[in-house]
Amino acid sequence: MSLSQKQRCRLQELAREAQAILGESKQPNDRPMTFAELEDASIEAGDFMTALMMQAEIESRGPATETPCCPTCEQVGELQTDEEARVLQTDRGEVTWLESTYYCRRCRRSFFPAVA
Ligand SMILES: [Zn+2]
Repeated sequence: MSLSQKQRCRLQELAREAQAILGESKQPNDRPMTFAELEDASIEAGDFMTALMMQAEIESRGPATETPCCPTCEQVGELQTDEEARVLQTDRGEVTWLESTYYCRRCRRSFFPAVA
């Protein structure tokens, strides 16, 4: 995917906002951040934003099908009442979200539906 000009402009606005947020953290003696400190802070903020963006997108999606099937036997699962935390390790850190689980009576196991 490549970003459109409009997307780039909006992301530049967010980057200025992020820079203002990072600028609020004072260094000893109120000195400006060194280049290395600025790089570290920017990477940390970028990784944090990446994880939040992925989490928001994943949470907005529903299961791939209305009747998710067991990944082992492919029998239709039963929706469970409780959601469980699901964790995904990405290149930019851990992404966590809550997701419905399904239960397969044949295999006697819970499973997460495939994400669309
Ligand atoms: Zn099964």
